[in-house]
Amino acid sequence: MTAVAPIEVPCPQCAVPADAESLRCPSCREDLAALVRLRYAGRIDYNEALERIRAGDDAAALLLLRRAVRQEPGLRPALDLLAEVTARAGAADA
Ligand SMILES: [Zn+2]
Repeated sequence: MTAVAPIEVPCPQCAVPADAESLRCPSCREDLAALVRLRYAGRIDYNEALERIRAGDDAAALLLLRRAVRQEPGLRPALDLLAEVTARAGAADA
């Protein structure tokens, strides 16, 4: 289990990736911070879920992982981990 790598968020106008420091478009200077947060939301939840699992809190991790895949349906590590934690929860209930 590893944290997912950062992703580039391009400016909707210029298709230039946001500057990692200022979160602004290097071309038109548009503030892309809100867009970056939105784009990263699933990964932030996924990384938080990893922390919860390390702390032994599968129930909290499940909620975070479900939200992560809703926010970013193609986020493979979150889908895999969701399946794993769901299976573990099912086994615990049996
Ligand atoms: Zn721009």
